[in-house]
Amino acid sequence: MTGPALVIGAGPAGLMAAEELARAGHRPLLVEARPTAARKFLMAGKSGLNLTKAEDDALFASRISAPWLRPIVEAFGPTAVRQWAEGLGQSLFVGTSGRVFPTGMKASPLLRAWMGRLDGMGVTLRTGWRWNGFAGDGLSVDTPDGPRCLTPAVTVLALGGASWPRLGSDAAWVPWLTDRGVTCAAFRPANMGFVIDWSPLMARHFGQPVKGCALTAAGQTVRAEFVLSARGIEGGGIYELSAPVRDGAPLTLDLAPDLDQAELTRRLSRPQGKQSIGNHLRRTILPDPVKLALFLEWGRPLPGGPAALAALVKALPVRHQGPRPLAEAISSAGGITADALTDELELKALPGVFAAGEMLDWEAPTGGYLLTACLASGRHAGLVAARRL
Ligand SMILES: Cc1cc2nc3c(=O)[nH]c(=O)nc-3n(C[C@H](O)[C@H](O)[C@H](O)COP(=O)(O)OP(=O)(O)OC[C@H]3O[C@@H](n4cnc5c(N)ncnc54)[C@H](O)[C@@H]3O)c2cc1C
Repeated sequence: MTGPALVIGAGPAGLMAAEELARAGHRPLLVEARPTAARKFLMAGKSGLNLTKAEDDALFASRISAPWLRPIVEAFGPTAVRQWAEGLGQSLFVGTSGRVFPTGMKASPLLRAWMGRLDGMGVTLRTGWRWNGFAGDGLSVDTPDGPRCLTPAVTVLALGGASWPRLGSDAAWVPWLTDRGVTCAAFRPANMGFVIDWSPLMARHFGQPVKGCALTAAGQTVRAEFVLSARGIEGGGIYELSAPVRDGAPLTLDLAPDLDQAELTRRLSRPQGKQSIGNHLRRTILPDPVKLALFLEWGRPLPGGPAALAALVKALPVRHQGPRPLAEAISSAGGITADALTDELELKALPGVFAAGEMLDWEAPTGGYLLTACLASGRHAGLVAARRL
């Protein structure tokens, strides 16, 4: 029952590829290993489903790490994604810093409408069908009725990256492709927290947000919250800088970004009297107990003198023990490399096979960049695959 077009993986990239194939008049078969489609997309909905960002297409695309992917993202950028979601009956709103969400802050209504449209367009979805490698010129698939060998004219692979494997993207495909000459970069966590070996004193602050700080790494400064947990630090401010920090850049924290160093020095020069240094810091510049605890945690042994203390408050080194594991990361870096792909996202080693979404070697911050790039690359692969038929 293989038609001429096969899409493997029913996440946002694969659904979009299937949509374009169907729009071009083909009736693609879309196979998905899990019992239901788009589990990671639904998980993204639990935090509101940040679909895209209200910013200029070129600026938006520039945040994608891979230059070769940027024209593809520009061709289906934030404006197009918003129109696409609205076309599925979803009203959207622009939240803080331009992030675009469905008004309901959920993925399920959008997914339901999308699946309904795909069904009406002639896309056949088969769940519980797991691709498990190549068999000669065919693709071997385990189905609930036993193994099958599919021999489509074109295939779009959209199997996802390597984070949250329990949602389906387990990267089991890497050896199947590398055996066929497709180069893949090792997967690494992206948009993840960092492990901290806290002293016991920090336990009382676990679960608390750290607000009103500036974080700096690799020359980039962001002002965003993060959260302390028994495992370490995580949250928006950390994810934003997680790529350079993962790659070895030091991360520093400005605990008082609204006061300059001279003002901090002036306040710290007030007489300390018999107060402990902790109390002196609290009364002069760090009233927030969480910030004070972080200062004492990462600043010790504290330098002497108000000027040196002020300098440390402005650039406190974050002492971490490396990234949290890939399985916990929001997304992954690594995957099929640019030199294994044509501009059309066709695998050079496997003509007629295209790839899209997070299985390709690119990364981007949170903020809607991930979903938009997956939708855009799935669309591109689907359009090109359709032209081959
Ligand atoms: C907690 C969380 C929150 C997130 N929030 C956001 C957000 O708000 N905004 C944003 O832009 N991004 C967000 N993301 C990231 C975004 O969800 C992913 O980048 C996106 O889903 C990747 O799409 P994809 O289609 O490439 O892969 P996936 O969504 O991973 O889909 C791949 C599909 O392929 C299937 N598959 C894998 N192997 C096989 C096989 N051998 N045979 C058949 N099928 C197979 C999988 O089961 C899966 O359904 C979030 C991620 C997580 C984990």
